[in-house]
Amino acid sequence: MLANTRSPKVRKVIEGMGKKLNRQLVGSLVACVHCGMCTESCHYVLANPGDPTFAPAYKADQIRKLFKRHYDWAGRIFPWWVKAQDIYSDEELEKLKDIVFGKCTNCRRCSINCPMGVDFATLNRMARGLLTSVGIMPEGLAVVSKDQWSSGNQMGILKEDYLETLEWLSDELEHEIGDSRARIPIDQKEAEVVYAINPREIKYDPRTIADAARIFYLAGENWTMASEGWDLTNFGFFSGDDDLARTMVRRLYEKVIELRGKKLVLSECGHGYRAVRCEGPNWAGMDLPFEVESSVSTMLRYLKEGRIKVDRSRNDISISFHDSCNNARSCGYFEEPRELLNLVVTDFREMYPNRAENYCCSGGGGAMSMSEYTSLRLKAAKVKADQLKATGAKMVATTCHNCVDALTDLIRHYKLGMKVTQLVNLVANALVVEEKVVVPVEIALPLEVLPLQGYKILVVDDEPDILTFIATVLEDQGARVIKAIDGEQALELAAKEKPDLITLDLSMPGKNGAFVFEEIRKDPELSTSRVCIITGKPELRRLIYDRPVPPPEGYMDKPINEEGLLVNVRKILEVSHEGKREN
Ligand code: SF4
Ligand code: SF4
Repeated sequence: MLANTRSPKVRKVIEGMGKKLNRQLVGSLVACVHCGMCTESCHYVLANPGDPTFAPAYKADQIRKLFKRHYDWAGRIFPWWVKAQDIYSDEELEKLKDIVFGKCTNCRRCSINCPMGVDFATLNRMARGLLTSVGIMPEGLAVVSKDQWSSGNQMGILKEDYLETLEWLSDELEHEIGDSRARIPIDQKEAEVVYAINPREIKYDPRTIADAARIFYLAGENWTMASEGWDLTNFGFFSGDDDLARTMVRRLYEKVIELRGKKLVLSECGHGYRAVRCEGPNWAGMDLPFEVESSVSTMLRYLKEGRIKVDRSRNDISISFHDSCNNARSCGYFEEPRELLNLVVTDFREMYPNRAENYCCSGGGGAMSMSEYTSLRLKAAKVKADQLKATGAKMVATTCHNCVDALTDLIRHYKLGMKVTQLVNLVANALVVEEKVVVPVEIALPLEVLPLQGYKILVVDDEPDILTFIATVLEDQGARVIKAIDGEQALELAAKEKPDLITLDLSMPGKNGAFVFEEIRKDPELSTSRVCIITGKPELRRLIYDRPVPPPEGYMDKPINEEGLLVNVRKILEVSHEGKREN
């Protein structure tokens, strides 16, 4: 058949393959010796005995034959010799779709069992991407991908609905703990932890966000969630659409950079962890100026550091653990969940095989969104059902929302009567909340022992005795104090020292405080400097608040006393922990 009889979609797929080929893919395309050692690795094979079309090597050959026909010299000249074969019609692409989306979850179990290093899952993802590029993909996957493109999250959750959910979760947490500071911070700058989640948590399982918030609060963590760029899931990873994959991880990374966060902590999501932590920096072409870690590691650290306390007898039920393929097999992340589990439950029962050899939950690779393959998926899930049953446990924990859904579905289908949970739920359930609620250190300690060490404060006043009084009080609390006796000197020292806080008198000879205030506000170099006006002339207040710049963070009338001064200074500096002033 002539090349021009190929459908436009087939032509695009063949051209696209040429652009995607790299050393790793070509290696997997040429290395297979058809030894069959990978065959029994696949849960589809085990659940469909006698059907060779489920074998990883057979599935790979459906992609390989096209490669050989167009990009391998032997296949171009002697196609019959190397089993090269062309395709021509959209119907043939549809058949390929049923293989790469319907008969494989990209779990990589066959990949790690191939002595030749063939990574079929990577080939499969490439084939998915080629089909997706011509619009041939499962409908559910297309819908979710569209939502991620258009709304920034895979469930199309509106920003106001997302924020509203976090708001009521905050209200509940505050009510439960009885502390007005026990809330979920949003877009807080320079937080130690920026927490990203799976949209499923907002829509179907907000309990996991509430549990995480309680843990962060009790650990005294300086944390935040982002108002945008918070979805850690990645349907480009599932569909093979590299543009979507890149866009999603960039949205997350750029938000953390904008917030100047120190660490991006990912809630429990297997593919999200692999996409954001393992593959994402390459997709995005970025060197990340922050760390990325799973919330499992975060919780484990809090326990080891004594920042949270647990009573594992509260999880007095037999619990097994399902390794997410993306966490365990592809990222080598399998000891930390076990270490954490052993700290928070009384009866942990290992599942066999486990870790890198664990079987897929059957819902990997986006399978839960492909309803047309549900019966195939549930049939293949028999392998996992048998594994679960053999543990004799009443509950199974996992570190992946996708696995939660797939396990729940197969447990119902095979009538196993087990419950599914995540580690955050188990940790939260075991938390010991002491009488005296643990709150962030910088907020909770009594005023007299609150140190001002590390803060640089510029005190501006033309009255030497007041200047000395304010400076002495602040120095006694450990602050580094710089003094200015007029507006000119204040601007000079502010530019040079970039203080955390400026206490500013209004009525001064020369450049008065109102003028100095406006100059400070307009200087981008001083955008993080707070200002507390201290004046003996309340009538001048209008001069400050009428100015076309953001108002000062604090205001005090003279005469001032030590206690009042420290209360105000502390308040202003506490607020500065929550976020720097925006110009
Ligand atoms: S993919 Fe690897 S293990 Fe499987 S048949 Fe080919 S060479 Fe053998
Ligand atoms: S990646 Fe997993 S599901 Fe796909 S063929 Fe290999 S073992 Fe089977």
